Amino acid sequence: MKSYDRLFIGGEWVEPSSTNVIEVVSPMTEEVVATVPEAMEADVDRAVEAAKRAFDEGPWPRMTPAERGAVLAKVSDAVRNEMGDVAELISGEMGSPVSWATMAQVLAPTMIFDYYAGLGSTFAFDEFKDGLLGPVLVTKEPVGVVAAITPWNVPLFLAASKLSPALLSGSTVVFKPSPETPLDANRLAELFADAGLPPGVLSVVPAGREVGEHLVNHPDVNKVSFTGSTAAGKKIGAACGAQLKRFSLELGGKSAAVLLDDVNLDEALPLLMPNAIMNNGEACISQTRILAPRDRYSEVVEALVEQVKLMKVGDALDPETVVGPLVAERQRDRVESYIRIGQEEGAKVAVGGGRPAGLDKGWYVEPTIFVDVDNSMRIAQEEIFGPVLAVIPYDSDADAVRIANDSSYGLCGSVYTADDDRGLGIARQVRTGTYMVNSGIPIDFSSPFGGYKESGVGREFGVDGLELFLEKKTVNLPAGYTPKP
Ligand code: NAD
Repeated sequence: MKSYDRLFIGGEWVEPSSTNVIEVVSPMTEEVVATVPEAMEADVDRAVEAAKRAFDEGPWPRMTPAERGAVLAKVSDAVRNEMGDVAELISGEMGSPVSWATMAQVLAPTMIFDYYAGLGSTFAFDEFKDGLLGPVLVTKEPVGVVAAITPWNVPLFLAASKLSPALLSGSTVVFKPSPETPLDANRLAELFADAGLPPGVLSVVPAGREVGEHLVNHPDVNKVSFTGSTAAGKKIGAACGAQLKRFSLELGGKSAAVLLDDVNLDEALPLLMPNAIMNNGEACISQTRILAPRDRYSEVVEALVEQVKLMKVGDALDPETVVGPLVAERQRDRVESYIRIGQEEGAKVAVGGGRPAGLDKGWYVEPTIFVDVDNSMRIAQEEIFGPVLAVIPYDSDADAVRIANDSSYGLCGSVYTADDDRGLGIARQVRTGTYMVNSGIPIDFSSPFGGYKESGVGREFGVDGLELFLEKKTVNLPAGYTPKP
């Protein structure tokens, strides 16, 4: 994999301010596969200064939205042209199974770039209307300098979900990827430069938490767009609140999939399972609590166990792999500690629970199903972020809704039933930002996505995702004013 010795700041690859490097370690071999410079506070300061200059002096905010959209479309094409390489790059960085990565970590980002590229020609940034007292223009202007901060689990997807609307708005961006996944971020910087993005509009500062805090607190950052843990989101929200800085947060989840008593498991499980253990279980929207009717509990468990046994665990770069290694040793420690906690709490392991045989190198954990789980247990309340599911019995539809809502999170959820409208009735009662009724599609890029409760603040995707990066201005116009065509 390609190493870097410079940082992308202000449109150029510049000398970093320090000699610190980030080592990218393969989750399969546990060996260092590339290095990149670690951005320091001084590098962040340079990046923010460049972003502020590019915002204040242009041309980016003054170009038409369609022109900005055209740059996004070029980047989308470029990513699509090297889809296989990018998927392997991401799988190599963080262990996402390459078949899944091709679809969700590469194709999906191109759909996001394309969607916002299209909005550049269709979204009404200006609305002239008759106000109560006279003609009015409501115009939507870019928020300014944006700090985009992402975790490692779906790195390019999250970069696309923040950079596309932020850049389309005319804002300029300092992007801080996670230290586990700096390589795809640097590749994206190269593709943006090739696509003709003006200098300063995007900088990439791979770094850890402390440098992230410096970026969040920087007085010239106007808006923070954060995806990551709820713990970090609370700190960032507090820091932004203290400065009355705009912020949006996409945080953790502990979503419940409800199997209603009329469910056909042969139809439901192929839709549910890819969302229950997706991306090695390292996904905010994973359906990690599975709610089963008490009188069909053993049948459901049996079917789930069968599905899990079919999942091939192994090298993320093998196209047959369904579950790859976890991102890092500390993540495997975390997941294994939750497996111990579950057992101490009285839940039973129905399948998995250990390390897969024959994989001596790499941070692998067997896909694991816990049964006899009570929703008050820590394995049902806390985000494990690994391939671990909890199957929880319920007694009635109302009980299923109660259990689904008995969570500090509210990101996603799903219901499977022979009756779509009964499912929709459940969807309306569960307090989450996204829901699936007899569907395997958790996110629609043209529609809002985000969290209730501790899963976040604000909505990404769709027009809502663009509005996160816009300020509204009302201009009162003189009587009789007519806008020029
Ligand atoms: P994390 O919160 O530790 O780190 C995420 C990013 O924020 C990293 O780049 C990190 O360096 C940075 N960071 C951490 N603390 C910071 C602070 N105080 N100030 C500024 N930057 C800070 O999360 P993680 O462990 O890397 O990622 C996993 C989490 O991300 C899970 O909770 C998962 O659910 C969540 N996630 C949510 C979504 C969503 O759309 N809701 C999507 C993907 C992941």
